[in-house]
Amino acid sequence: MGVLVRLFRACVLAGLVALAIGGCAKPISQKEQVSSGPLTTQDHTITGSVQQSASARLQQPMPNRIVSTGSLAGRTLQVASTADIILRPREVILTFDDGPRAGKTPAILDTLDAHGVKATFLMLGSAAEANPQLAKSVAQRGHSVGSHTYNHVDLTRLSRQAALDEITRGETAVADALAGSGHAPSPFFRFPYLSQNGYLRTTLLQGDIVVLDVDIDSKDYYRDSPAVVAARTLERLEARGSGIVLFHDIHQRTVDMLPLFLEELNARGYSVVRLVPKNGGIFSRSVITAQVQLDGAGL
Ligand SMILES: [Zn+2]
Repeated sequence: MGVLVRLFRACVLAGLVALAIGGCAKPISQKEQVSSGPLTTQDHTITGSVQQSASARLQQPMPNRIVSTGSLAGRTLQVASTADIILRPREVILTFDDGPRAGKTPAILDTLDAHGVKATFLMLGSAAEANPQLAKSVAQRGHSVGSHTYNHVDLTRLSRQAALDEITRGETAVADALAGSGHAPSPFFRFPYLSQNGYLRTTLLQGDIVVLDVDIDSKDYYRDSPAVVAARTLERLEARGSGIVLFHDIHQRTVDMLPLFLEELNARGYSVVRLVPKNGGIFSRSVITAQVQLDGAGL
């Protein structure tokens, strides 16, 4: 905030000296105030080169383009429950499922860095276990890390106990992968295939797990070109106006489309909201405790 104070003082001084110039008339937007940090010159250079590429590659018309007023990085949203995830118009939460994966996740991290935005990674326990350094890297670069079961099974096909065990196993594996990184996993969870039932959802919510739903499915698992994936996702986002976007950091097309997608978000005036837990990491509560309580109550 020291920078803002100095900026304010500079504006006051400049205003006293030359009121007519108006160089400080534009207020600092809220978006700039809550962003995690100013973009460097290097970031702008990278962004500029991406923009050229984006314009050349996106073949569809671009409706609703407005002049971007600042950084793509939006506010940080602290959530303690799924109900806390309330987005304003043109706010987006980026989520990446099924990783981490060598050769894919690092490139996605680089692109996110180039645009100064933070995402949420819902990792598979098995993938985090196989790539612990990569899992640590995601957390250390400022992204939120949640879980997505251990083996990516359809939980509704399992018994209640087996489903809860699969969730807990995945969460534990992600926590183990992050051990020593200085970062705990967030209590964020996404159902594989978005397949859920009332029992599982209620149990997780009562266990203080934030279940992340999907508002915009990029369908980046289809064998489409990166430009098609980007155009489809943008079209669905424009129709909805805001939302949680689902990507997967295991596909090359997702790696390839992300610069294009983020550049278009910026050009259209969207901001990327950083999702973080309000009450610390997963160690502040236990799904197993909730499970025992529910079982004891005969549910
Ligand atoms: Zn998945």
